[in-house]
Formats: sequence, C-alpha cells, structure tokens
Amino acid sequence: MKKQNQAGKRKMNNFTYKEKLRIHLSNSFGKTLRRKIVVIESDDWGSIRTASRAAYEAMSRFGLKVQANHYGFDGLESDEDLEILLNVLSEFKDSTGRAPVFTPFCNMANPDFEAIENANFSAYAFESIDKTLRKYPNHTKLLHYWQQGERQRLFSPQLHGREHIHVGRWWKLLVEDNDAGMREAFKWRSVGASQWHAKIYPNYLGALHPTKKDEIPELHKILEDAGDLYKHYLGHAPECFVAPNAAEPAELEATLKKIGVNTITRAKRRVYPLGDGQFKKEWNWPGKINAHGQVILVRNAFFEPVCFGEPDKAHITDWVDRCLKQISIAFLWNKPAVISSHRVNYIGFIEPKNREKGIRELRRLLKAILTKWPEVEFMTTRELGELMMNKA
Ligand SMILES: [Zn+2]
Repeated sequence: MKKQNQAGKRKMNNFTYKEKLRIHLSNSFGKTLRRKIVVIESDDWGSIRTASRAAYEAMSRFGLKVQANHYGFDGLESDEDLEILLNVLSEFKDSTGRAPVFTPFCNMANPDFEAIENANFSAYAFESIDKTLRKYPNHTKLLHYWQQGERQRLFSPQLHGREHIHVGRWWKLLVEDNDAGMREAFKWRSVGASQWHAKIYPNYLGALHPTKKDEIPELHKILEDAGDLYKHYLGHAPECFVAPNAAEPAELEATLKKIGVNTITRAKRRVYPLGDGQFKKEWNWPGKINAHGQVILVRNAFFEPVCFGEPDKAHITDWVDRCLKQISIAFLWNKPAVISSHRVNYIGFIEPKNREKGIRELRRLLKAILTKWPEVEFMTTRELGELMMNKA
C-alpha cells in the first residue's frame, strides 16, 4: 500500500509530456555556458507582509484570506531566520570550495503606518528598512546579516524596489475606497491579503506595474529612491534587479541603468504594460542584451517547498525532485540553472513549522545537487550576469 502511494506521488511530481516539451524548448534558447552553474534567487527580503502571529490570527478572523496560501506566513525576516539560513548555506561546499549562495532581491522601504495615521490619511509616507526593523521584536540584526552575508558570499543582496506595494493602488483601496478589509490589515501593520470575504483585490503588490501611463513618471522616482537607499545600506550601487510581483514598463530600464543595474532577471515570456490598458509581449533568454546594454537572465527552476493553496501547484508533493529535474534540463542545454525560491520558505517568525520545512527541504536540495553534479558552481546573480556579459 505504502509503495503504491509513493509511486502515485512520484507520478504527481512528474512533468506532463507537454510541460517537458515546453521546458526543453525554453531552455534551448540563449547563451550557452559549458559549466554547471546554479544561482538561487529569492525575492521579497526587507519587505513587510504579515506583521506578527497576532496580526495573522486577527486578520483571518476578520475575513481577510491570509490562510488561503503560504504567503500568510511571510513576514519581515527575523535575526533568527537569517542566522539559520546563513548557517545552513555555510554547511556545504561546491567544486570551487565555496558555499552555496543566495541572491536575495530586497525592498529597501515599507509604508510608514504611523506617519500615515498621524497625518490622518492625508498623504502617503514610507520609511526606510532600518526604521521598519526597529518596530519589530527580533529584527535588530537584519542589516548586519545582509552585510555580513555579502562579505562572506553567502547572501548577495540585490534590488527588488522601494516598497513592495503599488502606492497608488494600495492608497485607493485604503483611503479613497475606505475598504474595511484593507483598513483592518492597516490596523495590524500588514499588507498582502488578496481577498477579503468574497472581494478580490486588484494586484496592489505589483509595485512598479502601472495601469495608467501617467503613473510612470512616479515609478522612475520610486526606483531612484530605492537605488539611493540600497547604496546607503549596502555601501555600493545595486547591480541586479527583478520587478516585484508584476512586470515593469520598458521605460524603467533607463532608470535602472542610471542607478547601477546591469543585470535584470525576467520571465521568459514577459507581458509588460505600456499604460492605459495596453500591453506588449517580449521573449527573453539568458544572455540577451537590451537597448541599454543590460544583460537579461531568466529563471528556469522553481523551489517553493512551503507552497500551498495555489491551485496550479497543488499536485507538487516533492519540490526537491521537481527542481532537480528542471536543473537537469537546464544543464542538458548548457544553460545555467537559475532557481526562484521566495523568502517565505525561510521565515519562521510567524509560524516556526514553515521555516522548519523550508530549511529541511533546502538542505535536501543542496545535498542532492552536490551529489548529482559534483562539478557544480554556485554563483550570485551578479557573477552570472558578468559572465554572460563577457560572452556578449
Ligand atoms: Zn516580490
């Protein structure tokens, strides 16, 4: 009986013929590298989401669907979250004698709930990351770990934006619509719920994704702020960028260049907004160079072991196995494997079991990669971008 179940599970994790064909096809394009390179990219670091366990429970009782998927357990990384992750990475060594490394894409600011409240909701205000972390109970070493992680080449912070909310859309829901669900989340200093009872919110987490053309000038400004803050906290300009949640307009590439970004991670098939409800389709491949001379990378493997509640991923019971298959296809086509693995997988601040699972599975993944491909090299997004650029 047990054997049958395991066989059933394995089948669940297999790709369908159609999926396999699509993965092979998408890996066939782009620059080839005859080295086995693995990059682990992780979005959302520095941003708030659920502020605490109490916030999670209160919002859930109020009808905000925080329990609908794993992102309800996502919150600002605590000192313990960072310490545990960095320790796990330092347990392993690749063929170059160096440890696996994460490239976290970071938000440098968050909404300043108190300032907004004190101004009686008359104007939006944001606060930089160091102000946010002082409002949290176990987070004072956050920036210390980012910097130490960078020095030790275990954690190589790059840019995800200023705050992880689209200021205009969030403000409309919160203030203009005076939406009760959004007000409740605000009360708990949290963002992220996509639904309140039956009401589904528009995507207000896509910070740099405009719906109207006249929003675009403000997005340039937001990106410049993000670049300045990054430089302030990390001591150098950001080199790599991935947009938060939804595609950014093409015009922002110039501002990204201006703030120092030379490597952009994008979806293979990107539908980006022109504003006013118009969109344009774009195909991307690893090593593509855009009009500003920036190099494009694409993610071709996915590792979200704490994931639940997302209907298209419900059949995945073994993320390690699935991720190994994706890496294997990338290597077959002489492409670097760029793994997407969001912060939520490593956060135990709201729910310790969430982090336990994510860390356990990460250990299993790293061990399996090193066993299967002893010649593997773990790289940062910046290093891979430079390697690709030199091949251009
Ligand atoms: Zn994100």
